[in-house]
Amino acid sequence: MAAEKKNEGGSNGEKTNSESILNLNPAILTPGMKQYLQVKKQHPDCLVMLRMGDFYEMFYEDAITASKELEITLTARGKGEKRAPLAGVPYHAVETYLGKLVKKGYKVAIVEQLEDPKQAQGLVKRGLVRIVTPGTVIEPGMLNEKENNYILALTCKQDQFAAAWCELSTGEFCTTLLPSLAQLFNEIARLNPSEVIIPESLLVNTELVQRTKNTGCFLSPLEDYYFSIDTARRTVLDHFHILNLDSFDLEERPLNVAVSGALLHYLTATQKNSLTHLKKIAVRSNQHTLLLDAGTIRNLELIKNIRDGSSRGTLLAVLDKTVTVMGARLLKRWIKEPLLDAGAIEQRWQALTALNQNIILREEIRAVLEKVYDLERIISRINYGNATPRDLVSLQHSLEQMPQLKQKVGGMPSELLQSIGALSALSEITAMLQAALREDPPVTVREGGIIKPDYHPELQELSALKTNARVYIQQLEEQERQRTGITTLKIGFTNVFGYFIEVTKKNISLVPAQYIRKQTTANSERYITEELKTIEEKILTAQERIQELEYSLFQNLVQAVAAKTEEIQALAINVAVLDVLCSLAAAAQEYNYVQPELVPQPRLQIRKGRHPMVEQMQAGFIANDIIVDPGTMMIITGPNMSGKSTLMRQVAVITLMAQMGSFVPAEQAVLGMVDRVFTRVGAYDDVSSGQSTFMVEMNETAAILNSATEKSLIILDEIGRGTSTFDGVAIAWSVAEHIHNTIKARTMFSTHYHVMNKLAEKFPRIKNYNLAVKEVKGEVIFLRKLLEGGTDESYGIHVAQLAGLPYEVVERAREIQAILQKDDEMVRKLKAKRLEEQRSLEGF
Ligand code: ADP
Repeated sequence: MAAEKKNEGGSNGEKTNSESILNLNPAILTPGMKQYLQVKKQHPDCLVMLRMGDFYEMFYEDAITASKELEITLTARGKGEKRAPLAGVPYHAVETYLGKLVKKGYKVAIVEQLEDPKQAQGLVKRGLVRIVTPGTVIEPGMLNEKENNYILALTCKQDQFAAAWCELSTGEFCTTLLPSLAQLFNEIARLNPSEVIIPESLLVNTELVQRTKNTGCFLSPLEDYYFSIDTARRTVLDHFHILNLDSFDLEERPLNVAVSGALLHYLTATQKNSLTHLKKIAVRSNQHTLLLDAGTIRNLELIKNIRDGSSRGTLLAVLDKTVTVMGARLLKRWIKEPLLDAGAIEQRWQALTALNQNIILREEIRAVLEKVYDLERIISRINYGNATPRDLVSLQHSLEQMPQLKQKVGGMPSELLQSIGALSALSEITAMLQAALREDPPVTVREGGIIKPDYHPELQELSALKTNARVYIQQLEEQERQRTGITTLKIGFTNVFGYFIEVTKKNISLVPAQYIRKQTTANSERYITEELKTIEEKILTAQERIQELEYSLFQNLVQAVAAKTEEIQALAINVAVLDVLCSLAAAAQEYNYVQPELVPQPRLQIRKGRHPMVEQMQAGFIANDIIVDPGTMMIITGPNMSGKSTLMRQVAVITLMAQMGSFVPAEQAVLGMVDRVFTRVGAYDDVSSGQSTFMVEMNETAAILNSATEKSLIILDEIGRGTSTFDGVAIAWSVAEHIHNTIKARTMFSTHYHVMNKLAEKFPRIKNYNLAVKEVKGEVIFLRKLLEGGTDESYGIHVAQLAGLPYEVVERAREIQAILQKDDEMVRKLKAKRLEEQRSLEGF
């Protein structure tokens, strides 16, 4: 609003032209705006920012949008019909503004000056250098360093879906094939990309578009042409300079090629860069990792809690003792991608044992890791061409830690740690950086101060020249003082005037004739002399040459480092793995976890198991023993608040922890590997998709029944509560039967319907359990102990009282309960209904 008002007014009351620049007669545009128009024509979906000296400027509609979104002043340039709305941001703060725009879902085209304005003849050459979009942000200031920022492309053919995703700031590029829309969205939920690219023709698929938008990402349509197999194949071959796709195992995967090629095209088109740090495409088959659906990740609070979406009280928060940002990012991945390969799981456990057998060494390793910077993102910036000298210093300091790390882990009794110890420490790169870089260089690349003078003979010479000249100037000051007798005479320097001799007003009479007056200030006069100018010339020429030389030496360093991209990426991954292993080991030690044991049968036996997050948040957690034999279903009853939900989540979380390679909160855990973990926990309304709670509940149940196998673990926390009791019991009963008879998965089923306890009489592998409560003088005490057998008490009124329902309401409820329990007509009706339910159930 405010911005529009400014726009109407203008400083001299003139109306500013608010039309789109695309519709205007170019004749009224300034030469700079014409350059702007050119880019805008090609990228009408972008906000265009044009570099003008110290500012990035936006015109016409972009200026109006930017002023509103960034709350910056809207001004105008020109008069009358030429009066153009204008908004600008200073170049040194551009990251902040870009960050805001991109977060709000804008794409921003950056137009830079392609030549030095000082040397330009006429109009400065400008060109589009990059389009910044939500998924292609790489600036450290705009990224959360502990989170991945993915861009994902998807496509489909009949009922096959393919996705490819990339994180530009680390160089990771993967693709996978997904058999259903649901699984595609599981993958999207897992990766949480900030931008999703789809073929334009899929825009008509409203379900897909809506669900994508619901994830909160930015949707970018791309012409179908780039997804066509031939075009995409060419894009991939050209990018990686290869002749066929065998090396990536993509030759027989046309849909993966289509989606990877389209993504690569989008990235190169927006980044205007060769993206040399994208070294490979990894085909993810999903066969090595356990597929977690979005609901389970949310329900079990693995990464974010349900209350406020932060990481407080999550498994991530408990296990995260990482000391590098690479480790922090990898830990999230390990949590979301538990393993299915027993060998790989055991390897991680072996590493944890080794690290915990020598805690002093483990802590030494962590202390070294703390000094390692974000190698993944640094190497990407190096390849991108926007690394700063400080990035190189961070790289140097990180690499300096490698010999120590290798030496410390190399001898440990763990294959995984030994393989990390066997990596190349890249000592030649370290030595080169050590020799070349100053300790504290600036972030800029063109102003010198980067390279040690003795790294290069010419640099050394120039630097000596500069130092000598400075000493000479000091001598000159002294000499002039003596010659003129002006003791307060000073030689100073400003960027605009260069060196000058300053004499206070009262001494002006003593100034020699050959002094040339240059400037008058409040209290003094400033002069130059021939001699001073000659020296200044020398210093400035030396300075300029130093800057040029340092810039080119810096570029050489960057190139030498870029040539080792793959090795540095490998090192980065291994540092992250080591950090995560240390983090899991430290957590295991601190919280008293135990190494689980894997068995081939699909069973589950946990002695004195605890919930890793709940035990942290409250003292006095009660451990429980849980035994689920192959194909067995536990029916768990117990009043509200008795701990059913906690117990079931605890089993799921312990299983996932084990398979991600962590130790677990228990005294003993014997586990048969699970292929999937399914959870149907609590009810939440998916308001955005317009579905009712019950519909969501049934959808989730359907997904479980359609995908679970004998090796899965199913957690069902109440089923059928969203409908009438009769329907509810019917559904719960038949679901239980189906799982028992057909799926035969290990299952924990908590329910309010006590009639479900009857299932145990009918089916051999269904067992009843309850969470014990004790009644002492009308007060209910939750024991939180799992016992065998069913219950038939609900203690609902008691829980209502605990929840703070007003005294009168609780008392009245007790009265009503008493009345109901008497044999009045209402109860007879209820009993008759219950009998009816019972009979029909028994008839099954
Ligand atoms: P239900 O699902 O039966 O309604 P919850 O599992 O939600 O019950 O548990 C209710 C509360 O009881 C939890 O928030 C937790 O604070 C506490 N609780 C649950 N299990 C335990 C336990 N084993 N030891 C101590 N406190 C527990």
